[in-house]
Amino acid sequence: MNVLIVYAHPEPESFNGSLKELAVDTLTGEGHQVQVSDLYAIKWKAVLDDDDFTDRMNTEIFNPIMEQVNAVEKGAIPHDINIEMDKVIWADLIIFQFPIWWSNFPAILKGWVDRVFFNGFAFNLAEMKLYDNGPLKGKKAMLSFTTGAPRELYSAQGPHGEIEILINYFNHVLFEFVGMEALPYFGVFGHGDLSLEEREQKLDDYKEILKKLD
Ligand SMILES: Cc1cc2nc3c(=O)[nH]c(=O)nc-3n(C[C@H](O)[C@H](O)[C@H](O)COP(=O)(O)OP(=O)(O)OC[C@H]3O[C@@H](n4cnc5c(N)ncnc54)[C@H](O)[C@@H]3O)c2cc1C
Repeated sequence: MNVLIVYAHPEPESFNGSLKELAVDTLTGEGHQVQVSDLYAIKWKAVLDDDDFTDRMNTEIFNPIMEQVNAVEKGAIPHDINIEMDKVIWADLIIFQFPIWWSNFPAILKGWVDRVFFNGFAFNLAEMKLYDNGPLKGKKAMLSFTTGAPRELYSAQGPHGEIEILINYFNHVLFEFVGMEALPYFGVFGHGDLSLEEREQKLDDYKEILKKLD
């Protein structure tokens, strides 16, 4: 299986960095092919703007979603986005590795989705290629994240509300929207409060999940 890990943490020694390294080692050891998009390391441009479109269909009014289709048709996709699109095409599974920031992706990861999942590539509004007809059908996606808050805070009774609501949002309007199948997530909650032994146990738990992914 070809696995792309889209990794968003600014510090290689972070726990997210360890989870990413563990995934690379474990999946490679299981015989899978692995590529990593280390977004901070490559200084990924997170903002979708008119700099991405050098051969515009409309130079007076900037309509990003229409310019995306135009860029696909003209083969005028920026080099950094093209590299990531090739990885998406290559991948059978995409793992998103990140810390929860403001109950969401870090901006750099959201910007990867904004700029790579083009209209005309990952979905096609004009041709209604969405969900079951999504162009990325047959591929799988998985969230692997850490939180600062303990699990109770992300429960139905907790102040943040049930984490499954957030997960379902990612799974449905992002992964399933483009045709991908969402795998169960792996989350490490309340990371700052965990002992070294508990952190090591979480790494072991993740390793077991990764070994069974095929
Ligand atoms: C802007 C911002 C917004 C945030 N919003 C939220 C939010 O909405 N909800 C929420 O819950 N949290 C939030 N947080 C907290 C954030 O989610 C946590 O800080 C983050 O998940 C912790 O993960 P980390 O990888 O950064 O860990 P780090 O803080 O980098 O943890 C490093 C620790 O892990 C240890 N470690 C690293 N590798 C290993 C290893 N192999 N084995 C054992 N120990 C290891 C290190 O020794 C170190 O002590 C926010 C943080 C920021 C900065």
